[in-house]
Amino acid sequence: MKSERQHREEIVRFGRLLHEKGFVASTDGNLSVRLDHDTVLSTPTSISKGMMEPEDLVVVDMSGRKVTGRRNVSSEIAMHLLIYKLRPDARGVVHAHPPTATGYAAAGLPLNQALVSEIVLSLGCIPLARYGTPGTPELTDALAPLVPHYDAILMANHGVVTYGDDLLRAYMKMETVEHFAQIALVAHLLGRQQLLSQEDVGKLMEARTRYEATSGLRAPNQPNCPVTAGSTIAQAAPAGAPQQDKFLVTREELVAIVEDAVRHSKRRW
Ligand SMILES: [Zn+2]
Repeated sequence: MKSERQHREEIVRFGRLLHEKGFVASTDGNLSVRLDHDTVLSTPTSISKGMMEPEDLVVVDMSGRKVTGRRNVSSEIAMHLLIYKLRPDARGVVHAHPPTATGYAAAGLPLNQALVSEIVLSLGCIPLARYGTPGTPELTDALAPLVPHYDAILMANHGVVTYGDDLLRAYMKMETVEHFAQIALVAHLLGRQQLLSQEDVGKLMEARTRYEATSGLRAPNQPNCPVTAGSTIAQAAPAGAPQQDKFLVTREELVAIVEDAVRHSKRRW
């Protein structure tokens, strides 16, 4: 078992990595470790995550009150505490604004397409929580329904939060989310997304269930998560958002629809 000193050094190390990778700018983001049943070690507010010292960190109780530390508690501590309460298996939480994944969150798009087998296996899919003002119950209310089912969540118009049974795993999930967002973006730019079939995803989910016994991975609670080839819903809506009907059409079908509409409008004129 690690000492508090080792946890402090680890938070400083992963904070520096988040900064070096461009996953945070200025004083963005926060990291925490659950020390025991009653306390959490967290990054403080208003500090660059790339320039912290172990002594800058604060210890808070499970209601967010500072127990020790010379700096002030992060305004996002409620998000961390929510995750520790809903996921007793979580021992580390990382929140950051990696640009590509946050771009998806800003576009209102979850990273829920079955594009890469390793992502289906490791994270299932990455849902999008509806927007909530940072530091308020709006934000924790938006995350709460998703936290028990996923290990990585996009937060609309904000960023990403990941968690794991230690800080290293929470950090690695953040890297995985951003890397997958880049892959999804490239596939989108290439104009083609060749999604895995339901059968392929089923096999991966089976493997995932076998793995779950030891890792604590949860079953997804959203339909089309992940979206597979032939799925009738292209993107799952953010949790809590009004449902809209969506459907997939091929390029040829779309061209035919547009040409038909143009023909009709010409006739009218
Ligand atoms: Zn943030």
